[in-house]
Amino acid sequence: MTAAMTLPLSNTAFDSSDWGRQMQSFVAELFPICRSITGDGLRETLRRIAQRVPLQIHEVPSGTPVLDWTVPKEWNIREAWVKDSSGRRVIDFALCNLHVVNYSVPVRRSMSLAELRPHLYTLPDRPDWVPYRTSYYKESWGFCLEHRVLEALPEGDYEVCIDSTLRDGHLSYGELLLPGTCPDEVLISCHVCHPSLCNDNLSGIAVAAALAQQMLAVPRRLTYRFLFVPGTIGAITWLALHENEARYIRHGLVLAGVGDAAPLAYKKSRQGSAEIDRVMEVVLRESAKPFVIKEFSPYGYDERQYCSPGFNLAVGRLSRSAHGEFPEYHTSGDNLNFVQAASLDASLRVCSEALSVLENNRRYSNLSPKGEPQLGKRGLYRAIGGSDEPAKIELAMLWTLNLSDGRHSLLEIATRSGIAFSAIAEAARLLSKHGLLREETDASDSPAINASREEF
Ligand code: ZN
Repeated sequence: MTAAMTLPLSNTAFDSSDWGRQMQSFVAELFPICRSITGDGLRETLRRIAQRVPLQIHEVPSGTPVLDWTVPKEWNIREAWVKDSSGRRVIDFALCNLHVVNYSVPVRRSMSLAELRPHLYTLPDRPDWVPYRTSYYKESWGFCLEHRVLEALPEGDYEVCIDSTLRDGHLSYGELLLPGTCPDEVLISCHVCHPSLCNDNLSGIAVAAALAQQMLAVPRRLTYRFLFVPGTIGAITWLALHENEARYIRHGLVLAGVGDAAPLAYKKSRQGSAEIDRVMEVVLRESAKPFVIKEFSPYGYDERQYCSPGFNLAVGRLSRSAHGEFPEYHTSGDNLNFVQAASLDASLRVCSEALSVLENNRRYSNLSPKGEPQLGKRGLYRAIGGSDEPAKIELAMLWTLNLSDGRHSLLEIATRSGIAFSAIAEAARLLSKHGLLREETDASDSPAINASREEF
């Protein structure tokens, strides 16, 4: 049985110069919200995503044990500032939410500059940028500010206010499950816990939401699960509560830092040669733009959790600039100017192509394997022989016939031939239509992946 090819072979169906602009405006819409790993800013962000796709918002109570962790207390903040002796606000959370150390406990008192100083964080080598600092798992407080401003603070008494709460509440995360005809799942995950930072956080959210919008609009063979989770604790919470569902995840991508101008970089899953790893190599190669492929390491974003040995999911990560390796990282320099519509758009296209390849990757058997079948009499070969190079589709048919022995997937044929996956898939469609190929069912599909799923 030949299953119908579902997703378009390229995302031309979604071609719209608007995608980049739409994603950029979504980044701008979410930018002012003060997010954290819990709290109302996170909820508001999930609600805004839910205005675009039918996201389910889940709430997990503080204190819930999740794997080796515990869901923390919920943090909310209303205002935070430091006033000098004249009553002027020299630091003000209302102007930029990076100014307060995320998860700061409440404070309200006067103190000298000497007492205040250990609670102030700056970047001496970037005196005009405000750093981003957190204290999630250790109760403390602090402010982040421009080094230039710190240098100009006179001695004297300062009034300090952090009007925050840290109490039992919930950890919120968003989930969208788009069922396909097959229960095998593709996981798309991004973190939603950073405050006003664009590339690290908002770019991944915008691309994941746009990808979800695209997938909602097409028939699907595979099932898609989109997770919008606070970094680390959110992924751990989801895994802890969904060990059974995690078994169905066959392929996955973490999206993080996909909006800056650096070339796209794919970090392989822990498995290293999972189908998603091979798909991303082919798709990036076919993008005809510079790209980087990185081996797995147990550091980075939530691929750390999905690829922990007890799960070992085939989840890689798509990024541009590596976290921690660009000056704007975790500073106010990672702002709306740092994320470009064209970069968001190109990241979305690569994701969408990757899903298209996953949807259309199949294995076939050549039903006429002795000698080449005569394509000409079937109208599949150029009518006039001669000096022309074989057309691309003819070469794709020859490769597909030759390697379709029931074991090689179309992806493997595309990789080995160097021909675009879309051409190989089109060749397979034509050859199937003319009775020269038979699709193989899933019985022996991806034994390596099946084996890894047995480890649960
Ligand atoms: Zn970060």
